[in-house]
Amino acid sequence: MAKKDYYEVLGVPKTATPQEIKKAYRKLAMKYHPDVNKEKSAEELFKEVNEAYETLSDEEKRGIYDRFGHEGVSNMNQGGGFNQGGFSFEDLKNFNFGGFGNIFEDLFGGGGAPGGGFGGQGNFRSNPNQPQRGKDIFLEKKITFEEAYKGFEYVETINISKRCSVCEGKGYENEKDVHICEECSGTGKTISIQNSLFGKVQVQKTCKKCNGSGKIIKTACSQCRGKKLEVNKTSLNIKVPAGIIDQSEIRFPKKAHDGINNGPSGDIYVRILVKNHRYFKRIKNDLYIKYPLPLIKLIIGGKFSLPLFGSIIEFNIPELSTPDTVIRIKNKGFKVINREVRGDLYIELKGELPKKISSSTKKKLNDLVKDLDTKSDVDFIKKVSKA
Ligand SMILES: [Zn+2]
Ligand SMILES: [Zn+2]
Repeated sequence: MAKKDYYEVLGVPKTATPQEIKKAYRKLAMKYHPDVNKEKSAEELFKEVNEAYETLSDEEKRGIYDRFGHEGVSNMNQGGGFNQGGFSFEDLKNFNFGGFGNIFEDLFGGGGAPGGGFGGQGNFRSNPNQPQRGKDIFLEKKITFEEAYKGFEYVETINISKRCSVCEGKGYENEKDVHICEECSGTGKTISIQNSLFGKVQVQKTCKKCNGSGKIIKTACSQCRGKKLEVNKTSLNIKVPAGIIDQSEIRFPKKAHDGINNGPSGDIYVRILVKNHRYFKRIKNDLYIKYPLPLIKLIIGGKFSLPLFGSIIEFNIPELSTPDTVIRIKNKGFKVINREVRGDLYIELKGELPKKISSSTKKKLNDLVKDLDTKSDVDFIKKVSKA
């Protein structure tokens, strides 16, 4: 089956920036992570997404992939080291003479780089005995506006791969279960001499029998079957601090999957998504609310109240307030993260007219208007007629 295009896998255009690629990867990794997605196809898709990201997140690999496709990258992962000898990958591709195909395959397809001839001898494939960092875990949590205001705590249960408790991460239980690889005498590498158009070259390859580890495990650990890790259901207590901003990420260093061969554990990232509130709005650390009240109350003024996430805020409206008055109440906004400071609460008054008016009310109001010192319309007419 043909491999899918890496850009298609991540759903990004070829022109995507590293940030866009990272973002797309995170989203998909979260969607298909086996801890989250129990569908059968998810694991395969998760692998595909990781593979695509591994290449597209690395500038050099991405460049090669763009020019040579999957073949270029898989060759690069197995072989390598050519740039060290002043011999670039592109140079090799551009060579055009008979019989080149063979050596090209030997060099790139076999997973090794020549010991002589090119001057390079690098081998990009990492030694399987070397420590490897554990994978990160990405989680998402939706919280309410009120929870973001007050702070929130919850427990998340996750499947985390931890160092196998039976073999302590070795992959076998007894030393006698491990033998030195006969193929490579424990070096993990095999060397052969090959004829090529450059003359005789020494080709070093990763030992196929032991995969480069130099060891053969005869009897794998009964618990982890040689995988060195075992999956544990783990409860993680997550504290979301008061004042958290939408889309913030909380990081739990070294709490994700353990590494193998004593490599460090990965990190857990929890992205917090804050839902909108029906009435309150947040701008920076300040809280805003539109407060409707009859126009007549703006004229009279007085004491008013507003419920605020469990408490009641009392405030005064001065008499003869204009319909666009904003009342500021200090220190009732969002807490500023990591500081003992809060934003403010802004109550935006919104004077409202009654839906209907009876003729008797109209008459009373007319009398009231005479009492109130508002002759602005009469004054205005005079000014206009003289202008
Ligand atoms: Zn071997
Ligand atoms: Zn084990």
